[in-house]
Amino acid sequence: MGNKKYLVVGAGFSGAVIARQLAEQGYKVLVIDKRNHVAGNCHTERDSDTNVMVHKYGPHIFNTNDENVWKFINIYGNMKPFVNKVIANTEKGIFSMPMNLLTLNQFFKKKLSPSDVEDFIKIKQKKIPNPKNFEEQALAFLGQELYYNFFYGYTKKQWGCDPKELPASILKRLPIRFNYDDNYYNSKYQGIPENGYTAIVENILNHKNIEVKLGQEYNKKVNSAYKHVFYTGALDAYFDYKFDRLGYRTVFFEEEIKKGDYQGNAVINYCEEKIPFTRIHEHKHFAPWETHKKTIVIKEYSKETEREDEPYYPKRLTKDKEILEKYKTHAKSCQENVSFVGRLATYRYLDMDKVIAEALAYSEYFLAKTTAKTNFKGEIFSDNI
Ligand code: UDP
Repeated sequence: MGNKKYLVVGAGFSGAVIARQLAEQGYKVLVIDKRNHVAGNCHTERDSDTNVMVHKYGPHIFNTNDENVWKFINIYGNMKPFVNKVIANTEKGIFSMPMNLLTLNQFFKKKLSPSDVEDFIKIKQKKIPNPKNFEEQALAFLGQELYYNFFYGYTKKQWGCDPKELPASILKRLPIRFNYDDNYYNSKYQGIPENGYTAIVENILNHKNIEVKLGQEYNKKVNSAYKHVFYTGALDAYFDYKFDRLGYRTVFFEEEIKKGDYQGNAVINYCEEKIPFTRIHEHKHFAPWETHKKTIVIKEYSKETEREDEPYYPKRLTKDKEILEKYKTHAKSCQENVSFVGRLATYRYLDMDKVIAEALAYSEYFLAKTTAKTNFKGEIFSDNI
């Protein structure tokens, strides 16, 4: 028993951070991933034609208010300053996103000051005391015209359902600002790694106590060979979809190589329902410190996740939450030597910084329990601590 290793399933941020924290305490860890690269959906790779660093699974802009997480990521790579400013291409024209004073003044053809615009928007807002879904939240925040121009079509395309079926929390990710600040995020720290996310995750995993095996499928039959297993894959897959599939949206991409500057910005959202893609990303603009003659332009489409697709966004519709509860109850009753950690294993819409914060907190919790030699099986979820 004493010589057994720990197993981490999945080499994304969750798995890498846990592996590192255990390795630092002298424990031996094997990390496996079914893909042939580390970093999960944050994976970056230089395009062979343009030499542009491409975020292979869609744009990732690191942003956080968590000082510890910012310090942590800066140990493993150089974060270059980057402020995400998104452009929205809509039926009524081109606007700045998230909604700010420029967006509002241009959209309503006004010249309002910050205090005027607040009063102006209050008149537009629908009086909905407890917004229960995305649409109600949007109408309560923004009113009808802004909701339909910026959110209705995009959200239908992105999530494949009526915005009434979605939780209000999705809309709350985006701010509305009554000044000219067009930063997509409110976070204190924001940046993009100079050498990409994959280099950062490789550095986290680069420790004498960590072994990484890529292209390696996981089968839970191996669990008993390990002291403990940290599983970061999809929760429903772990239990062979016993209680049905959890709903996910996935995205797919269409790439094109062009000359020069294609769209003048890293991300342009296409808010109209009739345009089939949700956004276009031009990845060289994520690295403004680099220069490239050619450019790689990527159209992003969203669709329902089928068997062979990568799960991206947990839908968390009412039926999904019921299925989730069944898996959680079952997992807890199984008494297996497994912990479920991260975005896929806990079925949540988590940003990178939250994933790192939770993996750090969970490792600390786990190590404290292990050191105290309590009869800890770890058959719990990282979102429960
Ligand atoms: N959204 C929208 N129009 C936009 C941008 C966002 O309708 O131009 C909606 C959409 O439903 C999206 C949600 O707001 O899922 C949250 O946006 P965010 O940018 O946080 O999504 P992510 O970064 O996860 O793609």
